[in-house]
Amino acid sequence: NQVRRHAIAGVAAATPPPYTFDPGEEPGAVFGENVFSLSVMQKRLPKGVYKSVLATIEKSVALDPAVADAVASAMKDWALEKGATHYAHVFYPLTGLTAEKHDSFLDPVGDGTALASFSGKTLIQGEPDASSFPNGGLRNTFEARGYTGWDVMSPAYVLENPNGNTLCIPTIFISMTGDALDHKTPVLRSQQAMATQARRVLELFGHADPDNVVAYCGPEQEYFLVDRHFFDARPDLINAGRTLFGAKPPKGQEFDDHYFGAIPERVLAFMCDTERELFKLGIPAKTRHNEVAPGQFEVAPMFERANEASDHQQLTMTTFRAVAKKHGMECLFHEKPFEGVNGSGKHVNFSIGNSELGSLLVPGDTPHDNAQFLVFCAAVIRMVHLYGGLLRASVASASNDHRLGANEAPPAIISIFLGDQLADVFDQVAKGGATRSKEKGTLVIGVDTLPDLTKDAGDRNRTSPFAFTGNRFEFRAPGSNQTVAAPMVVLNTIMAEALDHCATALETAVAAGTDFNEAVQQLLADIIADHGAVIFNGNGYSDEWPVEAEQRGLKNLRTTVDALPELVAPEAIELFGRYGVFSEREMHSRYEIGLEQYVLSVTVEANLTLEMGRTVVLPAAVRYQTELATNVAALKGAGVEADLSDLEAVSALVSDLRSSLKALGDLLGHEHDDDALVTATTIRDQVLPAMAAVRTASDALEAVVADDLWPLPTYQEMLYLL
Ligand code: ADP
Ligand code: MG
Repeated sequence: NQVRRHAIAGVAAATPPPYTFDPGEEPGAVFGENVFSLSVMQKRLPKGVYKSVLATIEKSVALDPAVADAVASAMKDWALEKGATHYAHVFYPLTGLTAEKHDSFLDPVGDGTALASFSGKTLIQGEPDASSFPNGGLRNTFEARGYTGWDVMSPAYVLENPNGNTLCIPTIFISMTGDALDHKTPVLRSQQAMATQARRVLELFGHADPDNVVAYCGPEQEYFLVDRHFFDARPDLINAGRTLFGAKPPKGQEFDDHYFGAIPERVLAFMCDTERELFKLGIPAKTRHNEVAPGQFEVAPMFERANEASDHQQLTMTTFRAVAKKHGMECLFHEKPFEGVNGSGKHVNFSIGNSELGSLLVPGDTPHDNAQFLVFCAAVIRMVHLYGGLLRASVASASNDHRLGANEAPPAIISIFLGDQLADVFDQVAKGGATRSKEKGTLVIGVDTLPDLTKDAGDRNRTSPFAFTGNRFEFRAPGSNQTVAAPMVVLNTIMAEALDHCATALETAVAAGTDFNEAVQQLLADIIADHGAVIFNGNGYSDEWPVEAEQRGLKNLRTTVDALPELVAPEAIELFGRYGVFSEREMHSRYEIGLEQYVLSVTVEANLTLEMGRTVVLPAAVRYQTELATNVAALKGAGVEADLSDLEAVSALVSDLRSSLKALGDLLGHEHDDDALVTATTIRDQVLPAMAAVRTASDALEAVVADDLWPLPTYQEMLYLL
């Protein structure tokens, strides 16, 4: 087959792009070079203005609009020095992608020339046409206006491009009515809600006027790299980001020889290049390694404040895509690009704290600190138990459905792993709380019988969706292609609820004359009694776990269609409303958009399956069938006995392929129901199985059709030729 031969030849001839670094450059010399950072602001802004901006960033003091002009002017001068010709408000619509609208700095002046200008007003607010972004019924098209608003907390940066650089300003994106149309607005709202409740708990533990508590996020990004020649020869990769056809390679990942193995030369060059680009943007890329599947890799940055981490994560994906192209490869972020080998996730490492107190999820040096730590941990146990369904919904997508529960990623059941030490401590708390005694061996919080808690994470559990790892929790269900903002919003909000609960319980008990330590002991015991069912330290991949989880009353929301309705359950609407994160309208819009995206993405895949099945796979199979038939006829003509078995086998598969294509085509011919949930359910229960049937027939053909006739690059080629 011409296409495949050409692709293979192209890979063999590929040369890496010329080295872009100055070999004398010190590692890290470029860090933050293109960021309008605090230190740049300190140098360039009048003192009073700088102090005001700093107070907003560090202490969450409301931004003083009077400073905007001064900031804008300094930002413009800095950006022009960096070669920027345009500026862009960058926002994060509900497609999960990043959007930007570029405007030139130049304004014509009366005499026929133009001057660079950039006012505080333009910095603070923009007005892109919002009609083509999903809004889930929040806006009529005749009210297409949407507003972007400067997020002071996330630094502006200059993005380099051979065609001219752009000053990028991270912004929120809202409708004329103030409804959030993006992922950033709720991150900021939920951050504030969480901080308010965390402060109450800290004050109870004797911290007078503690610094603002923030959520931290360290996202680990998994991805695949494939050579562009193969990518270009696969319409499914181009249009759906995953292979809709492809038989398992003779050598899969069963040897475990790729994980943490030596990084291939070409990939290493790519990694160095991406790291340098990320460094320029102030993104602290730290860890890089091979992942489990062949062709699969991971990058993890140093954790940052969630809002910034989330913007940086989006920028990381954009950068990876661009640099991969430069290196003649394609970077795949789809959760399951290849059937039968591991998919990709994006673990969200989550903690809360501030620079004064550090992470509040680290045991301290004294029993008192440990009591505080245990309260924050207990809050996490409560939130995951009460709102596991929302966590599941926050990572629901058609593509992530291929991964969750597939014995490589955590199951769709949201449980929590504490590790031996912490599980044991809470076990003791439960006993102590039950008897309320101070018997020997029973842990009573806040007095010196509390055992020393070591800061070691203890053992690991790769099968848990939500695991304590020593100073943070690791939420492992997010998919590689998703924004971390959605899970962060849920994490912050349910943390706010749990901390609110803890603070109220402690305040009430103390007001009633209970000793504080006893009140803490009681609170912890109550939480364990009420929510201990969510703690699971066993094997999440085992067949017994779903059965046990059901007995424990834990939800098993297997698919997106099961999970999304969690967003519009009355408790969820009440919760997000109470903490000012989402209005009921906004929750409904997110639910609608989630369903819409599910339907759209599967429909695109189904149409592609049909088209590729009919125009790529079937013709190849028929050609081979003809070849076999010609051979049989020729043998018969020559008077030789012909073996019909190959022809019969291929003919049977061709007929399977034809009938499965017909069935899929019939399904796709139907009109969609008006109700999005009904449509999504049909898609899940009928269209996905119909696509799978086409694939089964095609993959079986791939195993028998002559290799020179097979039109699509094979798994073997895509996964191993880099
Ligand atoms: P592992 O493979 O052990 O899970 P990685 O080094 O791949 O670890 O990634 C761990 C991620 O967790 C990094 O992004 C790291 O910065 C982040 N992290 C570490 N400590 C914290 C913390 N206190 N809060 C949030 N994230 C953290
Ligand atoms: Mg990891």
